[in-house]
Amino acid sequence: MITFNKPYATGKELTYINQAITKGHISGNGLFTQWCNTFFCEMLNAPKALLTHSCTAALEMCAILLNIQPGDEIIIPSFTFVSTALAFTRMGAKIVYIDSEENTPNLDATKLEKYITGRTKAIVVVHYAGVACDMDFIMSLADKYQLWVVEDAAQAIGSYYKGQTLGAIGHLSTFSFHETKNIQCGEGGMLVINDPKFAERAEIIWEKGTNRARFFRGEIDKYTWVDTGSSYLPSDMNAAYLKAQLELLDDIQSRRIHLSTLYNKNLNVLVKQKKIKVISFPPYATNNGHIFYLICKDLDERTRLIEYLKHENIQSVFHYLGLHNSPYMLTIDNPTKQSLAQCQTYADTLLRLPLYYELTPQEIQYISSKIIDFYG
Ligand SMILES: *Cc1c(COP(=O)(O)O)cnc(C)c1O
Repeated sequence: MITFNKPYATGKELTYINQAITKGHISGNGLFTQWCNTFFCEMLNAPKALLTHSCTAALEMCAILLNIQPGDEIIIPSFTFVSTALAFTRMGAKIVYIDSEENTPNLDATKLEKYITGRTKAIVVVHYAGVACDMDFIMSLADKYQLWVVEDAAQAIGSYYKGQTLGAIGHLSTFSFHETKNIQCGEGGMLVINDPKFAERAEIIWEKGTNRARFFRGEIDKYTWVDTGSSYLPSDMNAAYLKAQLELLDDIQSRRIHLSTLYNKNLNVLVKQKKIKVISFPPYATNNGHIFYLICKDLDERTRLIEYLKHENIQSVFHYLGLHNSPYMLTIDNPTKQSLAQCQTYADTLLRLPLYYELTPQEIQYISSKIIDFYG
């Protein structure tokens, strides 16, 4: 069976975990955590980055930092993972769902303005499959209406918008190192603070509402409880694992991009015949090889293709169902029976193919030929 995902281990993980154990600091904010934080600060040219135990945790920290109050409205795409919304509904926010654009599952920025009200507090953009949203346009709207922008860059490591690194553009941004992501440590995430006004408070929220980080830097002589927060730090063993991955970021990315390009080349014949569409990149976006997807004609065709591939020992998977109609949303909001046509299309027709570091070009050839057979 060719599985959909296989988490890649570089071989250095155990060496670093051993070092963390030997150093005797395996709780949070040890040397490996600090190494990972610095790596992100440098990569994104950001004033502060904090390693968390998940991207979900980093998004929760965003909601706290933005002081989200009941009744505040947050605009997010419906076609995303639960956490993008959950982090804000927990604080009593009303989520305003926006449809995807036609050419990518990203939020349709041209529709944003009509969703903005006096209660809108933030826009959370998701760079689906690592493909950039139209950030210049989104940031200019945010500027006009004085809104915060959070980039949920969970899938977007090493990808760019007009030459700018994703995650470096919004006021805050978050990354995921869940085992399904390009760079992973099992479970992990990163909060990146681009607007320095959030830097000091973020560190406090990160460490259970205390100013412990300042104490350990020797800036104050005792630490105490000063704000709200939670325990958002992962163990330094997780950070040690992550260091091994981040050191090989360029290698991992270029391998994945290469594999995704091979799919593109092999399946182009079906695209030309208009039988399928495949992942596409607006002129301002780059490919980071996170996901390779195709778009089937309809739900029925996709269901048959999944079955067909399974029969040929290939695991392929669909993705989000759209959050606006999810059972939980309907319990906390008036069931608006909102219909988001593009989101529904992606929910019904998008199919992700296996893509991971150790997948071989021969396997991609095999998978592609089976898809071509299906349509033949
Ligand atoms: C994976 C993912 C998350 C959640 O990441 P965790 O690290 O598992 O919390 C959030 N948003 C998006 C868009 C994701 O793809």
